[in-house]
Amino acid sequence: MPWCDLLMTIPMTRSSDDLRRLGKQFLWHPFTPMKLWAETDPLVITSAQGMHLIDSDGNRYLDGVSSLWCNVHGHRVPEIDQAVRAQLDKVAHTTMLGLASEPAILLAERLMKIVPAGLAKVFYSDSGATATEVAFKLAAQYWYNVGEPQRNEFVGFAEAYHGDTVGAMSIGRMPAFHKPYFPMLFKAHFAPSPYVYRSETPDDPEAVKQNCLAALERILEEHGRRIAAVCIEPMVQGAGGIIIQPAGFMSGVAALARKYGALLIADEVAVGFGRTGRMFACEHEGVRPDLMCVAKGITGGYLPLAATFATQKIFDAFLGEPWEGRTFYHGHTYTGNPLACAAALASLNLFETNDLVAHVSRNATALAGMLDRLRPLPHVGNVRQLGYMVGIELVEDKPSRKPFDPKQRVGAAVCQQVRKHGVILRPLGDVVVLMPPPAMDVEDLERIVEAVRAEVAELR
Ligand code: PLP
Repeated sequence: MPWCDLLMTIPMTRSSDDLRRLGKQFLWHPFTPMKLWAETDPLVITSAQGMHLIDSDGNRYLDGVSSLWCNVHGHRVPEIDQAVRAQLDKVAHTTMLGLASEPAILLAERLMKIVPAGLAKVFYSDSGATATEVAFKLAAQYWYNVGEPQRNEFVGFAEAYHGDTVGAMSIGRMPAFHKPYFPMLFKAHFAPSPYVYRSETPDDPEAVKQNCLAALERILEEHGRRIAAVCIEPMVQGAGGIIIQPAGFMSGVAALARKYGALLIADEVAVGFGRTGRMFACEHEGVRPDLMCVAKGITGGYLPLAATFATQKIFDAFLGEPWEGRTFYHGHTYTGNPLACAAALASLNLFETNDLVAHVSRNATALAGMLDRLRPLPHVGNVRQLGYMVGIELVEDKPSRKPFDPKQRVGAAVCQQVRKHGVILRPLGDVVVLMPPPAMDVEDLERIVEAVRAEVAELR
């Protein structure tokens, strides 16, 4: 028997126990308390089909968090699989430094047709954090290039999250994640975010909005000519706890940035590509950012790709002779990876053929009806939803909004329990997050919500 046929007879997979043991021996998981991890029996995902993840024991689970907020059409989608295979038959990777690449060009052309008006150029990178870093650097260098180098400070929002690199942590400073690094972060200003449920006037979103906008305006008034850009997650602050902004907040922020001459950076990494019921969340309020960041869903959740969009005016400020120092000297090895671009193009085709954005906004109404069943439960403090982004905030005492002791890890416990119902979820503290793939249908949404309802009802 030839050696390659012989190889085929050797099983390539290991037993579940083996995989768990090896994983614990060699892996360091992101955002994971590893001591606790070592004491658990993690699921090992070995395959997937449609909306389901399948573990090494053959159990099936609905992917209720879109494999960390990125999957769009489900898994093993024939059209995307085929597009990636076809690209593999051409080339897997070539550099964009000094060379152009076909899929990167075709994807850029396609993206320009759907992004908010005014955005004219796309700069690729490979993750949400790199997309936001690029935006911050573009903003800073834009002002440098146009002769206002003093505009090098940023305004972000409390509890915002823009990724885990230094620039992203500086402007999206989440104490729970980033405290050890505070001394090495650069200066930024923070406006309060309109977290209505945790505000002093939880029944008056309008007042919360006005207070937060007034606070932002005070910062801009005080530091106006030093501010390069205001950066915001449009409509929904994701990792902060699925904090949905009151109507008019996003457009209010955009208006204030304009008024004080700062650029507006929209971080659409989580909210982009249909998840809120619009292709991009900026569309809800007709906001036109100067810079916009996307990642996660751009490839349908298949491969790492990110993009930072800029207006023509910003792009033009970088034009000049090489020795003039106006060039954007930034890039990553896998920038604009052809396989990822091919997946993204196939994903955008599916958005069109399946009218996916309309599907999300239609089903979001049905989802809202399902979520209403959770509201009366004694430990459900607040249910927040925009499109397919849902946060269910669990509290110990509903009338006073008193949180559970974080050591109880109630959110994590509920997410562990829903696995019995064949559902995978991941919480943010005691906010149970539902982030189904935009293509999920009503029946599967119903299964997820019912699993959560059953387990939250058990909380004592
Ligand atoms: N920006 C936002 C709004 C996000 O939600 C995230 C990740 O959750 C990021 C940036 C960082 O993306 P990545 O994990 O791909 O670096």
